[in-house]
Amino acid sequence: MTINTDLLHIARTENKPGPVNPPIVRTSTVTFDSLTQMREVKKRRADGERLFSYGRRGTPTTHALEDAISLLEGGEQTQLLPSGVAAINLVLLTVLKPGDHLIIADSVYQPVRQCVNGLLQPWGIDVDYFDGSVEHLATLLRPETRLIYTEVPGSLVYEMQDLSAITEFAQQHDIPVAVDNTWASGLLMQPLALGASISLMAGTKYVVGHSDVMLGTVTASGDMAHRLREMAITLGQCISADDAYLALRGLRTLPCRMAQHAQTAQRLGDWLAQQPGVARIHQPSRQDHPGHEIWQRDCTGTNGLITIEFNADITDAQRDAWVEALTLFSIGSSWGGYESLVLPVTPASARSCSAQKWQNKGPCVRLSIGLEDASDLQADLAQAWTCFSK
Ligand SMILES: *Cc1c(COP(=O)(O)O)cnc(C)c1O
Repeated sequence: MTINTDLLHIARTENKPGPVNPPIVRTSTVTFDSLTQMREVKKRRADGERLFSYGRRGTPTTHALEDAISLLEGGEQTQLLPSGVAAINLVLLTVLKPGDHLIIADSVYQPVRQCVNGLLQPWGIDVDYFDGSVEHLATLLRPETRLIYTEVPGSLVYEMQDLSAITEFAQQHDIPVAVDNTWASGLLMQPLALGASISLMAGTKYVVGHSDVMLGTVTASGDMAHRLREMAITLGQCISADDAYLALRGLRTLPCRMAQHAQTAQRLGDWLAQQPGVARIHQPSRQDHPGHEIWQRDCTGTNGLITIEFNADITDAQRDAWVEALTLFSIGSSWGGYESLVLPVTPASARSCSAQKWQNKGPCVRLSIGLEDASDLQADLAQAWTCFSK
């Protein structure tokens, strides 16, 4: 069966007659019939079994979502966290300890640098950034390198990386690779199948899909999955049953939402590339996108993200006027929801070793194409262009 069908059939209530969906189980306390039963549950839990024993350790609702995400990511076990940033930190804190060295892709989601500067470095964990190529990665490797952390494609302008080549290199040196898979949201690419040890997502984006829940997921198999679970429990990380329920509901429609986002984004990307003042459209599915052939090989489709790079003679003020002239695109962070969003972005300030490439470039704008009708969105974008001629 394809994942599109699986996502509709997983994590449903098995007892018949019964509701289709799993119940929302809101609880802290789980009660037992007898001490014998309670001790039995605790013993099995200590042996690594996932059991309903206390709210913080998960409920039938969160377990249902964990199973659905594991299926989507192609891993054995998933941890749920209250945000994507919490998922990133769980990975870093599970794998690294003082004295270790970490290598991160330069195109990574910018707040990762805050985790590094505010948390890891003060604790004596050393960090280098690589430009996405295995050649550069190899020059940074040290005997104490314990993790390679990447995100494919990169944030803001979607730099592609050859993930298979990176994981092959990492395996030769026995170093786990963690991948932020938010762009593909499990559906368009599976990092675990390409050799990564950990795949994490901001479920906040396409998984939830309706801009109403914050969610992080971390999926792995074997011993790594066990270590992630232990650390999540140590840190007391958990999510509410209501949030888990909404994310599970979002997952049911992920494939058809993603297909619609992609179709509209592809059409608008082609149209935007023809407009005056546009230097380049950043979108991995475009033939002129750097690494387009890797996207073709590793991804099964695209999403609703498009970044417009204007010509260098367009000023930031003109770009801002263009953004504010839009009426169907709301100004706001995040992406992956049903609604179209627009945000000015500056790749140069979110890069270190590859920042040079972004000198003397025009201003950029990121669009998250929502589920509105493509013609309406195109008409809105077209009217924004008149602000350049004023
Ligand atoms: C949004 C985002 C995150 C963080 O997710 P939150 O739920 O907002 O904490 C992590 N990685 C990527 C690539 C993102 O776009």
